[in-house]
Amino acid sequence: MDVVTTRSDLAEARDTVTGTVGFVPTMGALHEGHLTLVRRAKQECDAVVVSIFVNPTQFGPNEDFSIYPRDLPRDVDLLAAAGADLLWAPTINDIYPRNFSTRIVVDKVTDVLEGAVRPGHFAGVATVVAVLFGAVRPTRAYFGQKDAQQSVVIKRMVADLCLPLEVVVCPTVREPDGLAMSSRNAYLNRGERAAAPVLNRALHLLEQSYLAGTVDADVLRGIAQSALATEPLARVDYVSVADPDLLAELSTVDPGRGALASLAVRVGKIRLIDNVILAPR
Ligand code: AMP
Repeated sequence: MDVVTTRSDLAEARDTVTGTVGFVPTMGALHEGHLTLVRRAKQECDAVVVSIFVNPTQFGPNEDFSIYPRDLPRDVDLLAAAGADLLWAPTINDIYPRNFSTRIVVDKVTDVLEGAVRPGHFAGVATVVAVLFGAVRPTRAYFGQKDAQQSVVIKRMVADLCLPLEVVVCPTVREPDGLAMSSRNAYLNRGERAAAPVLNRALHLLEQSYLAGTVDADVLRGIAQSALATEPLARVDYVSVADPDLLAELSTVDPGRGALASLAVRVGKIRLIDNVILAPR
């Protein structure tokens, strides 16, 4: 696996790649969730490019940019073993050279959920992903369902701007106890880690009720709220049952269309998100 840093080295390495290119953008501190995306890309494409970039513009002033876990040597080993062909690990100046002036704002779908509590977050994400897409020129880009709203925003941007690539969203990879894998799980202390699977339990109960026929979205939200209330360390930010593409809150789930059920919960000081797709039936 080649490892490059600058835009010009990436461009040179990209020019040597022929056939279809699968691309997996990440912030590093890799886990099985990321590696599953890499393996999927490897199955579906001739070559796989991965980026590792902790993007400062998607972190709020009081968020964890400076302490976000970073371990490039370990990530390099994991990516090589997973079959990645090229790793781009740019510096901040490689992504945002002097006079960089562009900001991509995807409206509407970013007003709600994570966008409502993290102002500017999705503009940071959309802008950096557009830079990465422009430099890597992938045939397909792989994202995780774990960050459901992010996938919706990127799909919207790609469709609106006619970007010549396919967005592939892959299922959330979980720990054996159901906790969605996340680089931020490393922040959880022992008690918080034991409490954290309550997110998945709450979503599971909500989904079971939907599958049994409940379509009243308030009832579904209430089921998740009640499950979360059983965990003393959990403080709910939101429980949402929303349209899967527009992300507007629903009063009734149309079973022909399905919905996205998502939640954000503080466990101790750590804010966790998770979601489940309520599939059309
Ligand atoms: P991050 O490094 O957190 O920016 O994540 C990079 C990519 O990996 C994003 O598309 C995430 O949605 C995806 N991802 C993160 N955690 C998981 C997971 N547990 N399962 C599947 N994909 C994930």
